Amino acid sequence: MKKFGLSIFSLCISVCLFSQASPTKDPQIEKMVKEVSADSLRSYVNKLVSFGTRNTLSTQTDPKRGIGAARLWVLGRFREFARGSDGRLTAIIDTTTYKKDGRRVDRDILLGNVVATLKGTDPNDSRIFIISGHLDNMRTNVMDSTGDAPGANDDASGTAAVMECARVMSKYSFPATVIFVAVSGEEQGLLGSNYMAEKAKKENWNIEAVLNNDIMGGNNKNETNKNNTNEVRVFSESLSLLDTGRAETTIRNLGLENDGKARQLARYVKEIGERYVKGLKIVMVYRNDRFLRGGDHLPYVQRGFAAVRFTDMNENYNHQHQDVRMENGVQYGDLPEFMDFEYLRKNTCMNLCNLANLAKAPAMPQDVKVDTKKLTNLTNLTWNAPKAGKTKGYNVLMRETTSPVWQKRFYTSELKMDLPYSKDNYFFAVQSVSENGNEGLPVLPTPAGR
Ligand SMILES: [Zn+2]
Repeated sequence: MKKFGLSIFSLCISVCLFSQASPTKDPQIEKMVKEVSADSLRSYVNKLVSFGTRNTLSTQTDPKRGIGAARLWVLGRFREFARGSDGRLTAIIDTTTYKKDGRRVDRDILLGNVVATLKGTDPNDSRIFIISGHLDNMRTNVMDSTGDAPGANDDASGTAAVMECARVMSKYSFPATVIFVAVSGEEQGLLGSNYMAEKAKKENWNIEAVLNNDIMGGNNKNETNKNNTNEVRVFSESLSLLDTGRAETTIRNLGLENDGKARQLARYVKEIGERYVKGLKIVMVYRNDRFLRGGDHLPYVQRGFAAVRFTDMNENYNHQHQDVRMENGVQYGDLPEFMDFEYLRKNTCMNLCNLANLAKAPAMPQDVKVDTKKLTNLTNLTWNAPKAGKTKGYNVLMRETTSPVWQKRFYTSELKMDLPYSKDNYFFAVQSVSENGNEGLPVLPTPAGR
């Protein structure tokens, strides 16, 4: 009888207390994802290409050609979207004078990022989520500011994704703030994003995630003869110096080298993106960027913000940073004919569902702790409610130490969970969950009682 009683007890534990919560789709996010249009994306890319060049050093006075005309056009579109937003979306060109630097800027210029802000509806929620693409482009010679440079994939694709997310999301309201930015000066040395990230740091913006889109709508086979359409890469740094606030010895002892802010964001993006976007695999690359390359996420990462980069699965270097020309029967140049707008649509949806899920979710739980007072084979977690947002409950996430992604989730409405799994053998994290099932970013526990 005793044995029978115990087995009922253990059955109850496994079913009642530790049943895994299955992720749900938020119907409003599904609706927004459906509104992303390949035709709109195509029209933005074609229009951006029509400015001839968008080199950061190009003309700012010609009404039809150059970076000045291009940024005014993006501003105009943002302001058009703003009209349907009940005053929540506002847009500006945030300018600064950038002095000749003897490197990639040969004269003083007015550098301008086009920034649209969708203000959060909860006055107590200071969180900001950023989606970024770069408006500027280059020819083979980055200092050539007059010749034609279409820049369809690099980076009209990213700019178009930013604009399309603004178009769709501005019709909806979110408790937290979302910023849509088309940056200048990327090719001249990440100038626009350095300016914005520095401002964010000085003014203490509460940025929880930056999604940088650069070269993410091309579907041209490259020398490896691979097709892009079903896969996209997310690049993320493992740990930055400012990342966890934990001492190096703690990181080494606890094996936390794969759980920095950017990596945690990449893991989140993969899960949410694959949940909402059919036929897209999000491939995590455990690197900040590709060899010889950099991008607009780096100035944020360097200042301790969580930032990742999205890029085509396979790139074609004949179509990047190349003057438009035919050579030995090969077409060079970043032309719209090498774009795949269905692929760009899927990648835009991946951005949108992540931004929406984050901006609808409560903030991160606070003081997440794992009890390490004595040697046990169990895991006892505690935490406090987040600073902002309406929280219905919490997911405790779990993965084997060698797993790249979270493998199990357990739901509770309490501020603690005791699990019959050894804290020595798994990683755990806690995320807040809203009434509609939107999950916030996970927080790894710190050991308590050591
Ligand atoms: Zn680029």
